[in-house]
Amino acid sequence: MQRLRRPVRNQSSRGGVKPRLIVLHTTEGHNRQGTSDLEGLAAWFDDPASQASAHKGIDAEGNVITMVADSRKAWTQCAFNAVALSIEQVGFSSTSKRDWIVRYHRGLRTVARQLAHWSIRHSIPLAHSTVRGVCQHKHLGEAGCGHSDCGPGYPERYVRVWALLWRQRFLWASGRPRTRRSRAIAAWRKRRLHREQRRYAGRVLGTI
Ligand SMILES: [Zn+2]
Repeated sequence: MQRLRRPVRNQSSRGGVKPRLIVLHTTEGHNRQGTSDLEGLAAWFDDPASQASAHKGIDAEGNVITMVADSRKAWTQCAFNAVALSIEQVGFSSTSKRDWIVRYHRGLRTVARQLAHWSIRHSIPLAHSTVRGVCQHKHLGEAGCGHSDCGPGYPERYVRVWALLWRQRFLWASGRPRTRRSRAIAAWRKRRLHREQRRYAGRVLGTI
C-alpha cells in the first residue's frame, strides 16, 4: 500500500465551516496496477477545466492519494462541498456487491481506515446519515449534483462496520504505555478484530 500526496488546484476555503459528512464516490474509471490510476485522477482534479476535486482517492489495491487537505473544500458534491470530506474510489457504480467485497477488498480496507481516522479527528459518527455521518454521493440528491455513485451494489454498511472496528483499534492504541503486556493485549485484540472482520465478510457474502 502506498500513500501519495498531490495537492490540486481545484479547491477553496470552507469559509469557517467544519466538516460533518463523509461522502463516498466512484470514479467510473478502471483500476490499473500501481498508482497511475490515482496520478491520473489527481491530474484531472488539478485541471481548472474539470472544476472538480476530492480530498482522497483510493484504488482497488488500497493505495491512497491525498489531493485536498481536510481543512479545505473539495469540489465534488455541489451544495454539500463545504460540510463534506470526500473519497473517490477507483471503480464503477455498476460493480456488484460480490465484486466489491472480493475484488476491491484491499481498497475497501483503506476506505474503512480512512473513515475511522476522520471519525476520530473530526468527531463524525460512522452511522449512515446525510446530515452528520457517512453516506454515498447518490444519497445527496439534486442538491448534491444528482449523481448515482457508488451504485446499488456498494457495500456501505460493510465498510462502516469495518470502520467502527478500526476506530476501536485506533482508540485502544493511542495514549497507552507500550509495555510487553500492553503489546500482547494489542496483538490479541488485532487477531480478534481480524476474526470478526472475516466472520462479517462471510455473513455478507452469504446473503448475496
Ligand atoms: Zn460522486
